[in-house]
Amino acid sequence: KVSLEARHISLSYGSTEVLRDVNLRIEPGEFFALLGPSGSGKSTLLRLIAGFNQHQRGELLVDGQDITGTPPHARNVGMVFQNYALWPHMTVWDNVAFGLVERRETKEAIRRKVGAVLELVGLADYAQRRPGQLSGGQQQRVALARTVVIEPKLLLLDEPLSNLDKQLRVQMREELKNLQRKLGLTTIFVTHDQEEAMTTADRMAVLDKGILQQVGAATGLYDFP
Ligand code: ADP
Ligand code: ADP
Repeated sequence: KVSLEARHISLSYGSTEVLRDVNLRIEPGEFFALLGPSGSGKSTLLRLIAGFNQHQRGELLVDGQDITGTPPHARNVGMVFQNYALWPHMTVWDNVAFGLVERRETKEAIRRKVGAVLELVGLADYAQRRPGQLSGGQQQRVALARTVVIEPKLLLLDEPLSNLDKQLRVQMREELKNLQRKLGLTTIFVTHDQEEAMTTADRMAVLDKGILQQVGAATGLYDFP
């Protein structure tokens, strides 16, 4: 479990300021929601934490250490996307094992970890299916499994439920929250859905036009511009 702190972070694309003096502290094990309308800079901030974007000003601290120059693969960050990004030609098992194989973990460790995480997300019986043979919710579970199996220090979720229909979205909120509780991972959940933020997160912040507007308990309702 790690803490994450952004201090005076600014990021521009050319002359467009996308993040403006963002200050934020997320506690170890906290489930934090980042809420805001489309184009407000949520993905940019998430990709910055993952190391795919670079800020021009400010500091990004994990457990008090500045990780600004650390490349993505050395950050130990797991990210889940809206579109899942699963390998269509590979089985569920191989999709989940992929990151461990890349890390050259032993066959025994891979078997144990993949087995355990598929159990955790309720997909033990689907290990030999391909993503195309699964429902949207099941595919999202595979994406989560594949990410948490590498035991990241930070879990970043970029609108992971947006592609699901309403009913499934509500069910997956619960699953997401339970999974986060079980693993105790410091988690940032990006969403434009206030209800989703309030029903899953411990605290939330609203980002608007690159400015972090409010940080608080995930209970109140906010006015969207
Ligand atoms: P959100 O995730 O809240 O929808 P984004 O972080 O994706 O917002 O985008 C914030 C702003 O930054 C948008 O105005 C978007 O057009 C701009 N932006 C994002 N990525 C790039 C890029 N690679 N080059 C230029 N502008 C970008
Ligand atoms: P390159 O192809 O130059 O190595 P990146 O490493 O930045 O580029 O990755 C390309 C894209 O793949 C990124 O924009 C990101 O969306 C995705 N990606 C790659 N690795 C990861 C990862 N470990 N976690 C999340 N997304 C990743």
